[in-house]
Amino acid sequence: MNPDNIQSKPVVTRFAPSPTGNMHIGGVRTALYNYLYARKHGGKFILRIEDTDEARNKEDAADAIIESFKWLGLEYDELYKQSDRKDIYRGHLERLVQEGKAYASSEPSKENPDVLIELIRLKNPGRVVTVNDQVCGDVSVDTTDLGDFIIARDFNSPMFHFANVVDDHDMGITHIIRAQEHLSNTPRQILIREALGFPPFIYAHIPLVLAPDRTKLSKRNGATNTLDYRDSGYLPEALLNFLALIGWNPGTEQEIFTLPELIQAFSIERVQSGGGIFNTEKLDWV
Ligand code: GLU
Repeated sequence: MNPDNIQSKPVVTRFAPSPTGNMHIGGVRTALYNYLYARKHGGKFILRIEDTDEARNKEDAADAIIESFKWLGLEYDELYKQSDRKDIYRGHLERLVQEGKAYASSEPSKENPDVLIELIRLKNPGRVVTVNDQVCGDVSVDTTDLGDFIIARDFNSPMFHFANVVDDHDMGITHIIRAQEHLSNTPRQILIREALGFPPFIYAHIPLVLAPDRTKLSKRNGATNTLDYRDSGYLPEALLNFLALIGWNPGTEQEIFTLPELIQAFSIERVQSGGGIFNTEKLDWV
């Protein structure tokens, strides 16, 4: 299926950051592609803060994400926090257990084998799952080795994969455009989705943003905090223009785009599968 010529359902995309630190500049590029795709197709773009892992949440991180969106001028149509949605996850967990597709098991804790903890595991059918990815092609993985993997620590504490799938369905997401590092999570999420009885999503796993030495862009080799670019005086339009062209090309020589021009020009088909380089000289030029 060509993701650019869809389909009966209205397009809904989302950016789903975990509030574990600064708003990373690579995340802005992911958000931007989701935004451009939704706007191009007259659809909706949702911002969803994935804050179920309380131990990893950092105070103020959600605020910094929202602040970054404001500065960049990327408007979202809806905003959710997973911590407000625990009843929804619990309902689906209970249903899966009632249907015999998942089970609660008491197991010795890893940290302290004398203590029994309750975990909820999915009954894994153990088969080959194929991700039909719009950027990476068909990727098949045998999920047998995953065993009956954990989907919640208890009925009130879903794991990341579970809440992620429930929300993508519940929020009517049609296209999941996210970083390639999540491709390896996808077979697990497909098994969860199938157990829940939800129809498939369209996936596009986009290449990482790399530093000029082709390592993952990190604090070590450049500024990664989006708000640092604001504080250094960069124009949001320039930053978005620059980020759009890391990993995507319009198929023409054009290098300077306004946001409406990017919306017009963007297509998933022209997103490349290999990593894109973050080159600060290019940013300064833009
Ligand atoms: N919350 C995940 C992250 O911040 C993103 C998950 C997704 O986009 O599906 O990496």
